[in-house]
Amino acid sequence: MLEIKVYPDSILRRKAKDVEKIDDRIVKLLDEMAETMYHFNGIGLAAEQVGILEKLIVIDLRREGKNELIELINPVIIDSEGTYEEHEEGCLSVPGYYDTVKDRKKWIKVKYLDRNENEKILETDEFLSVVIQHEIDHLNGKLFIDRLSPTRKMVFKKEWKKLQKEKEKAQ
Ligand SMILES: [Zn+2]
Repeated sequence: MLEIKVYPDSILRRKAKDVEKIDDRIVKLLDEMAETMYHFNGIGLAAEQVGILEKLIVIDLRREGKNELIELINPVIIDSEGTYEEHEEGCLSVPGYYDTVKDRKKWIKVKYLDRNENEKILETDEFLSVVIQHEIDHLNGKLFIDRLSPTRKMVFKKEWKKLQKEKEKAQ
């Protein structure tokens, strides 16, 4: 199990590098990332969130209770269309806070490598599209709270302080 880095940890603000070689270390890391994501009941996890600055993402939406693990290595959005006005998001690195994010793309086309070094193309206009955009943001040092409106950002600051106080009390 890997430790999840939580806001405002500065590692979440750094940019991840391309994976140059998919070796045993990367494969093991992908396995551990998936294990960590399942343990914390997340639907997506970027390597950045476990303190590793490499372009690795695991996603499993567990639709209808079924597991469907997607691993993306060096993902790049090569095309997109349409925009959601608002979309509710949360994040394992910002535990306990959910809010509406503006301007996520609806349809995206992503290029990436799988663990066998095959180049893959994925197109989606479903919920998965927003999850991929959220995770790719992580690789660029960006969090969903950066995409809130100025008013919602103020709400976040207040709520986050409250959440931290409650956490302290519970300890
Ligand atoms: Zn996240």
